[in-house]
Amino acid sequence: MMNVKNSKTFCVLPWLMRYIHNDGKFYLCCISASDSENALRDDEGKLVTIQKISHLNQLESFKQLKEIKEMLSHDQWPKQCQKCQAHEERGNLSHRQLKNSEFQSEIAAIQKGTSKVRTFDLRLGNICNLRCVMCGPDASHLWIEEWNKLQPKTLEFSKSEMDQFKLPSWGTLKPVWDKIEQGSDQLFSIELAGGEPLISHEAKAFLAHLVETKRSQEIDLNIVTNLTIVTDDWYKLWSQFKKVTLRVSVDGIGSYQEMMRPGLKWNLLERNLQKLDQSFDQFPFSEINLNFTLQALNARQLVSTIKWLEHFKHICPLPHVSILSEPAYMDCRLLPQSMKDELVQAWSQQISLFISSPRYKQAKHQWLVEGLERAIDWLSEAPPTIYPHSWSQRLLKDQALKSELKLLDSELLLYLLTL
Ligand code: SF4
Repeated sequence: MMNVKNSKTFCVLPWLMRYIHNDGKFYLCCISASDSENALRDDEGKLVTIQKISHLNQLESFKQLKEIKEMLSHDQWPKQCQKCQAHEERGNLSHRQLKNSEFQSEIAAIQKGTSKVRTFDLRLGNICNLRCVMCGPDASHLWIEEWNKLQPKTLEFSKSEMDQFKLPSWGTLKPVWDKIEQGSDQLFSIELAGGEPLISHEAKAFLAHLVETKRSQEIDLNIVTNLTIVTDDWYKLWSQFKKVTLRVSVDGIGSYQEMMRPGLKWNLLERNLQKLDQSFDQFPFSEINLNFTLQALNARQLVSTIKWLEHFKHICPLPHVSILSEPAYMDCRLLPQSMKDELVQAWSQQISLFISSPRYKQAKHQWLVEGLERAIDWLSEAPPTIYPHSWSQRLLKDQALKSELKLLDSELLLYLLTL
């Protein structure tokens, strides 16, 4: 019997979760997937993909995954978990700690060796209806033709690299979904992200199958979406699941959001969010929140986004702040010190206001406050090293972004042109 509970590095996820990346590769979790070196490998050292394996259970037999579990059970950090290690060494709450408390009831089964895969985190590939400024061809096929035309020279992809992004996304392949279906008998949660999950017919068919086979009532559904296309059949599906959490990508208000996410119409997004807010009690929604991808371009939009949330009754009053570190030239730590000082002051004030407001419920909102606190800490860290002229090249090549930013924040534009 393993010593899992006593291990200071123990994490439930290698036992309970299967994370599939946009390109079909397996990683331990979304945190581990931030470094492509962490993709899981078979006993011959080859990358494991959902396209190639015959059954999800096959993963359990690979030496590498067994060794990772062994290390996590014995106070050691595998290299795939370095991000959590670094987080904890800085005294912050890690993804590992969050997930261990979420899946606490499963630890006894892991200890006995009888645990099953209980949760999927599926990044469905690169089919998307938007071409967000900070995204790339791995997550939006609309970037494939544009990437080399718009990005700094140092980030250009070769033809063969670009051809990889043109291959059919795993999320569009029926045989792949059959394998996922075979491994889903003990599930109690599914996370879907893209590309854009709400335009995936295959993901919808998989969820409909869970409804038909009467498993959906046991399953919590979490979807990360740009919320631009929400058909009525999604509402019908959601009504059949135990709980539904939606995380809506919003990186600014009005024209700013349209600049950040080319292809998006603000009025439509706002209408879709209002509809969710008004129908919140009629569906098993447990939470709807905004996901704000913090970067140099939109750091000055965070406060107005928080203020805009006051219009809603059920949408979480504070966005979840995801910190962008790649591409490095878009990192908000590159902003001038005077701007960063203003931001730290403004964000700290928002935290104080929120914590003292009647809308604040500690159990429900503490993690969102911690996200904002992490953003404040992030700004105090040293900026990354970037290739000279990264921003000036991007803005020279991406004239649409340049002219929109000129209208919306000319001070920021002038600064970025110097980088
Ligand atoms: S320790 Fe962290 S990086 Fe490793 S599997 Fe757990 S959550 Fe993921």
